[in-house]
Amino acid sequence: MKKIILSLLLVSTLGIMSFESYTKKTRVLIDLGHGGEDFGGKINDHLEKDIVAKIGTKIEQLNTNSEIEIHFTRTEDKQLSLTSRVELIKNLHPDLVISLHTNANQDTTKSGIECFISKNENHVSEKSLQLAQNLLTEFENKMSLRSLGVHKAPFLILNKSEVPTMLVELGYLSNKNDATYLTSEEGQEMIAKTLLNYLSKI
Ligand SMILES: [Zn+2]
Repeated sequence: MKKIILSLLLVSTLGIMSFESYTKKTRVLIDLGHGGEDFGGKINDHLEKDIVAKIGTKIEQLNTNSEIEIHFTRTEDKQLSLTSRVELIKNLHPDLVISLHTNANQDTTKSGIECFISKNENHVSEKSLQLAQNLLTEFENKMSLRSLGVHKAPFLILNKSEVPTMLVELGYLSNKNDATYLTSEEGQEMIAKTLLNYLSKI
């Protein structure tokens, strides 16, 4: 009897192991905008390149979901050309690319989060649009951010990518309310948590 139980256990363990090896992880590439000499936008002492890097660090620290494998285009403060970012996407071939940025406008009342996807129609256009819409809904629900919608743009990183890709402008540094969540540690942590929550559902 013991032998039977043992072999049954063995069979079920092997079964689980082989099932696990077929479970595909979601591989995500987070592109941290700007870097090095190119600091992007700025409000007081807060630079866009640092804001997105801090959010990236939080995402890495807070990700406890073993089903989500997160990669970054840069892990240090260095300038990275758009073509090398495109090259990184090509080499990794992730399930999703999210490029993180912050916006700014002369009109300081302008606020909210928006997404950009490629202007080109290709085999991932539909998926990119759907993923971008879902991301905005997640931020509307979890952080009560104003969604400014999904737009199409001829950005190189979007046009050259062959996997679902979106560029997210997380908010306006020029707007007082947006700047508060973009530059505070609590706000950056909320953004990271909201992104991780969103990724667990894609
Ligand atoms: Zn930017």
